[in-house]
Amino acid sequence: MSTTTLPPTVAPDLTQETNPMQAMLARYERAVIELDLDPGIDRILRQPEREVTVALPVEMDDGRIEVFTGYRVVHNTLRGPGKGGIRYDSAVTPDEVRALAAWMTWKCAVVDLPFGGAKGGVLCDPFALSPREKERLTRRYTSALMPFLGPDTDVPASDVGTDEQVMAWLLDTYSMHAGHTSPAVVTGKSLLLGGSIGRADATGRGVMLTAEAALMQLGQRLEGATVAVQGFGKVGAAAARLLAQAGARVVAVSDHTRALHSDRGLDITQLANWTRRQRTLDGCPYGDVIAPDELLALDVDVLVPAAVENAITSHNAHTVRARVVCEGANGPTTAEADAVLDAQGVLVVPDILANAGGVTVSYFEWVQNRSGYAWDAATVDTRLAEVMRRAFTQVLQLAHQHEVSMRTAAYMLGIGRVAEVQKLRGLYA
Ligand code: GLU
Repeated sequence: MSTTTLPPTVAPDLTQETNPMQAMLARYERAVIELDLDPGIDRILRQPEREVTVALPVEMDDGRIEVFTGYRVVHNTLRGPGKGGIRYDSAVTPDEVRALAAWMTWKCAVVDLPFGGAKGGVLCDPFALSPREKERLTRRYTSALMPFLGPDTDVPASDVGTDEQVMAWLLDTYSMHAGHTSPAVVTGKSLLLGGSIGRADATGRGVMLTAEAALMQLGQRLEGATVAVQGFGKVGAAAARLLAQAGARVVAVSDHTRALHSDRGLDITQLANWTRRQRTLDGCPYGDVIAPDELLALDVDVLVPAAVENAITSHNAHTVRARVVCEGANGPTTAEADAVLDAQGVLVVPDILANAGGVTVSYFEWVQNRSGYAWDAATVDTRLAEVMRRAFTQVLQLAHQHEVSMRTAAYMLGIGRVAEVQKLRGLYA
């Protein structure tokens, strides 16, 4: 008796593909080959310098004691102190923090800042914590990491789930231990504590500037271009507002609760006013509700994934119709999806270039703190634009030279710069 069985039509497993460390290493390895990197230097650069895991007992408001897990990974400090945000999220994993730390190393090198790369994470639901609980957690995390932080050692900033208030508690805890106020230990602070003017919008501004540069490559102006933005938090909302201000038509935005669309263009100020009051876009009536996946598949000039990792995977990359994808988030595209987007001729401005505006103004903030002199808005914006445009041009030139994507070129630029420093410094034995 013979039976015929059809192969099961299961979609490819996304677990491996969406592991951020795998996503980082796949791109890293591609660039290492293209650079013909020395195997010894490859061995050094592929792993973090330091990983710290801390248990954080916190008394909750009802008197219970909870123990949270916190991480701080310093990937590399060859070019300067570790630099990178702290994430409060219920999906934080060691591999995610490792990958994000390495991305900070490459990002800082792409925009040529004298920083290495680091990232922190605390496994928690920041929305479920009261302000007092969040403060106790932040102070405990900071004091646990005290030996590893400092303006010349490792300089945190905000990231998903953390904000100026969290940075203020971090600054205060560090300063109380140090015995003096130390503003340069953290960036993304309130202006009152030595934060930089322009820092809040900086990542979004960098996205706007790189989207503009990418469109220019395709012979199109930002003015009149259509844009869809996934994510309406610190990065997405600022990018949407600045893109609209520059004359683009933002036809869709979304957050984790709702995606909104309008062919005529959404009123970003109206949406920002809504989220300021309501926190999310849930229930927001200013646009037509569409499915979240529809936003990614819109026929727009620029798509800005500015939410979290793994928005564009091998499952949905073929639906992307944008001419330019400008990555506001870290790791929004998987390595498998890169190949699909490249084959479709989509110009991808990779995260380590597109969202580097944030850490660039963090660097300006650190410089201002150390010199004790605050810059004005025009100085910050002009210097940010210079840095972003220069980095964009350098990445593009490398992409043309080696006939690779802007993603591979950005990794090559970042890894190449760190590798040169390693060669110059040599090994301390
Ligand atoms: N969290 C931001 C990033 O991923 C900013 C980091 C910083 O300013 O240090 O780039």
